[in-house]
Amino acid sequence: MSLTDDLLAEIRREFPRFRVVSKEVSFLSRVIDLVLKIITFGHQKDYLTHYYTVLFHTLYTPKGWENSDEIDRVIILRHERVHLRQFRRYTAPGMVFLYLVPFFPLGLAYGRARIEWEAYTETLRATAELRGLAAARSVHLREYILEQFTGGSYGWMWPFERQVSRWYDEALAQIEREVSAQTPEPTTMGKEG
Ligand SMILES: [Zn+2]
Repeated sequence: MSLTDDLLAEIRREFPRFRVVSKEVSFLSRVIDLVLKIITFGHQKDYLTHYYTVLFHTLYTPKGWENSDEIDRVIILRHERVHLRQFRRYTAPGMVFLYLVPFFPLGLAYGRARIEWEAYTETLRATAELRGLAAARSVHLREYILEQFTGGSYGWMWPFERQVSRWYDEALAQIEREVSAQTPEPTTMGKEG
């Protein structure tokens, strides 16, 4: 069993109706892709090819999912598991409402920003646990995640970079505390040559 299989099995125990469907063969995903291209003026053009989407009990995957790196897949699944739990917590109509309504469908979508924030925090936590704190502190990862909130991919959901930066710093600091509590970093080691 691979790490991914283990986590998939764990998710299925928590969500017995969970299933994974390729976006390529999903008519619904193609319709959503078209709608997103129109409403974001072409800014979200990677929905089918790069983005994972949870709707109700189903995870829709982009091309290449089966062949992606093992740890990447686990990090992605941990992000998406947060969305499965949100669907359970808020119910499906609640999720649709939070995702689309407060405040606007595009730009200043506070509900969507908070929903994604919770899931991207898990992305950061999983990165720290599986790839180490240095990877979680990566400037690239930070830029990528900030861009998800301030750019067009999710419809400019929270285009206030300073505020998103602050959420990011707080989450990272919290995760650093958690991870160092789990595995104390050696502080008295000699320098390596
Ligand atoms: Zn997400």
